[in-house]
Amino acid sequence: MTSKMKPPPQVEREANFEWTDGRKAEEEWQSSTCISNNLRSNASRQTGEKPYTCPFCSYRTSRKALLEEHINTHTGDRPFSCPYCQYSSSHKSILKAHIRRHTGEKPYACARCPYRATQKSTLNSHMLTHKGKDPVA
Ligand SMILES: [Zn+2]
Ligand SMILES: [Zn+2]
Ligand SMILES: [Zn+2]
Repeated sequence: MTSKMKPPPQVEREANFEWTDGRKAEEEWQSSTCISNNLRSNASRQTGEKPYTCPFCSYRTSRKALLEEHINTHTGDRPFSCPYCQYSSSHKSILKAHIRRHTGEKPYACARCPYRATQKSTLNSHMLTHKGKDPVA
């Protein structure tokens, strides 16, 4: 053991005496809680937010339903079938988009006429046709 880098024992003891009782103890407490907070958030990032892992690939998700849908892409299962035709999909969202073709869902309605559009951009271009024609404008 070399004591080259160490200050003389007397000074060390004095310095410790000033710090240990008040400030140093408080700083140690703060830094230790800070570290444990960091550890906790890191742990939740690794395990808490995306606990569901695909057994076939490195896919991770936070929701069990999403993992089940994802696994279908590996197994070839297509549990989401269209009520209007023979079409079936491994993803619920894909089936939803498919069903729109049958129902003709048009969520964007024109405020000035009965026109409805499937996309907002389509409605916007339709709204342009009202300009000029409308005497109020
Ligand atoms: Zn996978
Ligand atoms: Zn269909
Ligand atoms: Zn219109």
